Amino acid sequence: MEDRRENSLGANFDLPPSVLDEIQKNIEDIILNFDIPEGNKLDVIKKINFMYSQTRYMSVTDPLTGLYNRRHFEDNLEREFLRAARYDSKLSFAIIDVDYFKKVNDTYGHSCGDYVLKEVAYLILQTFRKTDMVFRYGGEEFAVIITETPIDKAVIPLERLRKSINEYKFCYNGQSLTVTVSIGAAEVTKDMQSVHSLFEDADKALYKAKENGRNQIQISP
Ligand code: GH3
Ligand code: MG
Ligand code: MG
Repeated sequence: MEDRRENSLGANFDLPPSVLDEIQKNIEDIILNFDIPEGNKLDVIKKINFMYSQTRYMSVTDPLTGLYNRRHFEDNLEREFLRAARYDSKLSFAIIDVDYFKKVNDTYGHSCGDYVLKEVAYLILQTFRKTDMVFRYGGEEFAVIITETPIDKAVIPLERLRKSINEYKFCYNGQSLTVTVSIGAAEVTKDMQSVHSLFEDADKALYKAKENGRNQIQISP
């Protein structure tokens, strides 16, 4: 089972046993190889632990939104796909893309675009359970892994999210603006050979949502 710990920045992230072993080994090496006075050893251990935690946190986090980043996304989607296939459990997956986001940047400036991304990230996080995982996949694209949930149930929070973003009062420097998102969703099926099919299915559904007029959810196939 994975070791889930809270780091000193107050954020939760996964620390697999292999990483914990590596940290432990490095600390032991430093303590052995450097002449650290006995009374300072505990402080040194604490500091090294903090530095490792911080580095690990940064390696999986998107700095703008605080969500997990793309690297972490790829590891987790594959693992959850394999888990669902192996244990025959339900797994849904969605890509959320901000509509006409380039226009937000062009009209109100890049900082306003950044503000919108942060608010959208917050709204997505608010919508899903702690057992689901939310990522910033790319520029204005987010991904959600919805565990233990078939697609007909996953659309409930996804639709709630779409509606809440549509109704949210975005306001930047006194300027109010409306933001919408398009969502493509898919679920793991028995005939899926790899995680790429799951991603492709959601991506195709997203494309359909864009084609059909945006501000909507489309489900694969
Ligand atoms: P569509 O409805 O088809 O998705 O149109 P779109 O304008 O949202 O899509 P497009 O791919 O044309 O534009 C995405 C824009 O997102 C372009 C890029 O400059 C902007 N972008 C990417 N990352 C960031 C970021 O971190 N901050 C800001 N402000 N803009 C970003
Ligand atoms: Mg996009
Ligand atoms: Mg977009």
